[in-house]
Amino acid sequence: MSGINQPIGTEDPEYYAELFCKTRRLADWRLPDDERSCPDIPGIQGVDGLLSRRLQSLLDGVADISLCRRGNVSATMACLKNDKGTPETRLYVVFNHEDDESARHCRQHLQTIFEMLRRVPNKPPAVDGSPKVIANELEDYFIEICKAIHNYSFEIFAHRVSKREHKLSDIREFIEQDRTHFTTEQRSILVNFLEHVHRIIMAVAKAQTTGQLSTTFIKMLLWKYSHWTEHDLLPKDSPADKKVTLLDRADLWLAEEHNIGFQLRRWALKIMSFLITANRLFILTQSHRLRKLLQGNFSVRVLTSPTTAPYYCDLSSKTIQVALDAAVAEISNLPADWDQKRESFIEWLSKKLEVSEVRQKPKVHAELAMIIAMAKGEIKDVLPYVGVSKLSCIMCSHYIRAFNEVTKQKIATKGSHGKAYPGWSWPSLPDSDEELRPAFLRRIRQQLLSDVEQHAENLRRLSDSSMGSGGPEWQIGRTIDEIKELDDMLDMEE
Ligand SMILES: [Zn+2]
Repeated sequence: MSGINQPIGTEDPEYYAELFCKTRRLADWRLPDDERSCPDIPGIQGVDGLLSRRLQSLLDGVADISLCRRGNVSATMACLKNDKGTPETRLYVVFNHEDDESARHCRQHLQTIFEMLRRVPNKPPAVDGSPKVIANELEDYFIEICKAIHNYSFEIFAHRVSKREHKLSDIREFIEQDRTHFTTEQRSILVNFLEHVHRIIMAVAKAQTTGQLSTTFIKMLLWKYSHWTEHDLLPKDSPADKKVTLLDRADLWLAEEHNIGFQLRRWALKIMSFLITANRLFILTQSHRLRKLLQGNFSVRVLTSPTTAPYYCDLSSKTIQVALDAAVAEISNLPADWDQKRESFIEWLSKKLEVSEVRQKPKVHAELAMIIAMAKGEIKDVLPYVGVSKLSCIMCSHYIRAFNEVTKQKIATKGSHGKAYPGWSWPSLPDSDEELRPAFLRRIRQQLLSDVEQHAENLRRLSDSSMGSGGPEWQIGRTIDEIKELDDMLDMEE
């Protein structure tokens, strides 16, 4: 680990985190809870299909509900047997907690939730009904669990609810004034939805003084969620479902006609995120096989994050050039028009970066802290899946791939959102670092080269678009991220 007086350079993994902060990549999101078969979803090795997906969903869910403060990220792993091989569920959680008190608080919270889950009676599905419909008499149990989850994470929930509050009245006006795009029924569903959101925001604002939500509030939330899925605002089965809903159509219309740059569907899912997680945990209680996970001995251990040293990073155009030279040195054929692409990339990127950055408190990200604990034998016999409360960053995603390559393991996570954060820290693993660092650097340099190509491609598109109007409508279908990328480039041209 480099000290603050020893600058981080292009041979250090951290350098690339700092370099990648200002560029965007496409997300690589594997959907663990998508029930349909999808060959590129890695399952948990040694566990069959459905159970594997449920376990992934459980571990992601536990990571989600283990956080009570904004800005933190949590990772989880599970072990399903004890030293003697007898079934026993052990959950491991890691997040950057400041003191022992918050670790204790988290452990207690998770144990309470799992005790509540154990008390839920197992009701076989109605003969005529779908097995997915949870019997009405279980609603009270669900609401209690849901309430405990929301109250523990109140700060995060309140933030998710009110983040876009200031846009609400504008959106409502746009929709109410529309006469042509939506049918009367669709308009009324959308206005109802916005009214629902408004009421949720008001109720949460009222609860700010105590930080506690009532049973009635949670019941209201559940009913609204069920209403939203019944009325095609959110997909019914899996929230990550790609099915186009009425909210997607509203989002597209708001973006194109009214320049609203965020998505109602995303907001709706954020508001309901803890409820959706609570539901996933609840499903465990209604399956004979999954219920076993809750029985027998059950324990939670909160692990500490590794300590890190502050670092100083030189991000001048000179070091970017060194990094690019090292990257092309590792491939056999020089990319076409390399010199030109390299110059343009360096010029564009160096304008976005400060020449030097000091990181006082770098962090080993939660999923890597978990993998380190596993590799060091601090946790044993865990299933090779790391649950996370957020998609992983591009650095962690490459680290996990390099780790799997070097150690011949198959650790999987939810996926990556493709972004990088400043102050990312390499997790020291003395037994493997000698092999792991070069394997990682190889991957991260390939990423850098692919970023250069992407940049060149974006520039090409930009110059095509300046040829004048009347051309084919090729812009349609670009993502918000891609559009943002072009905006950044237009800035550079001035
Ligand atoms: Zn990360």
